[in-house]
Amino acid sequence: MTLNSGKTIPQLGFGVWQVSDDGAEAAVAEALRVGYRSIDTAKVYENEAGTGRAIAASGLDRGDVYLTTKLWNSDQGFDETLRAFDASLERLGTDYVDLYLIHWPVPEYGRAVDTFKAFQKIRDEGRAKSIGVSNFRVEDLQRVIDETGEAPAVNQIELHPGLPQDELRAFHAEHGIATEAWSPLGQGESLEDPTIVEIAAAHGVTPAQAILRWHLQLGNVVIPKSVTPARIAENFEVFGFELTADEVARITALPGRRIGPDPAEFNLR
Ligand code: NAD
Repeated sequence: MTLNSGKTIPQLGFGVWQVSDDGAEAAVAEALRVGYRSIDTAKVYENEAGTGRAIAASGLDRGDVYLTTKLWNSDQGFDETLRAFDASLERLGTDYVDLYLIHWPVPEYGRAVDTFKAFQKIRDEGRAKSIGVSNFRVEDLQRVIDETGEAPAVNQIELHPGLPQDELRAFHAEHGIATEAWSPLGQGESLEDPTIVEIAAAHGVTPAQAILRWHLQLGNVVIPKSVTPARIAENFEVFGFELTADEVARITALPGRRIGPDPAEFNLR
């Protein structure tokens, strides 16, 4: 997909939350071997080093792997961000990232705009090819747009069956912001939903594949996670079938809930 930065991002990537540093090295190596070319990590995952080692050892050109990392809450602020970014690059063992995200808005800090201004500097220096945010609400996005004159390239948000985020997706579409779905499989919770099981069976695919296909057809960037080689491969095989418009609508209409924290209140340091 083409971002508002003019750069492209693979629509399907691989996430490494809740994986140890060594575990991430193994999982990313497997993902790259299977064919994924986009990896999503974060400072707070404490596996940037393992992720970087796997990319370096893959034999792939750095330019062929799309690498995303995120700025942690306690590093928000202009100068703090510049320091935190340098430390992330050091751990990743690279001299640029493809996408740098503000991990959470933390409205009570009131530092998201200054943080985004530091992101603009990093981007202008070519050290992050695109800059974006994560877990931003409409009002958080609007503030960044109003005060910097720039819309983030990406907003990475919790989005899965039961939480289709219609309001944010509409706002993103209006402002040229790509929607990236985290916990795209509902951390596994969505896999047993009877509607999804039925739709998957109709296409001879697994529930995980049906859900990932739903994301792709909605236009989301999607970053499923697994450390199991068979599932890593399964989640990458989602380009050989297509859901009908009715099936997409039925999944979008499923009831459900937010699994992760509420961005209005989340302030973990
Ligand atoms: P996910 O929805 O990708 O679910 C992962 C879990 O689903 C796995 O641990 C496994 O138990 C199960 N699973 C995966 N593939 C399966 C398959 N084919 N069959 C059966 N079960 C399967 O959840 P996630 O890890 O929370 O989210 C994905 C990525 O999103 C993370 O790794 C991380 O990179 C990112 N993320 C970002 C934020 C944020 O605040 N920006 C928050 C959470 C996650």
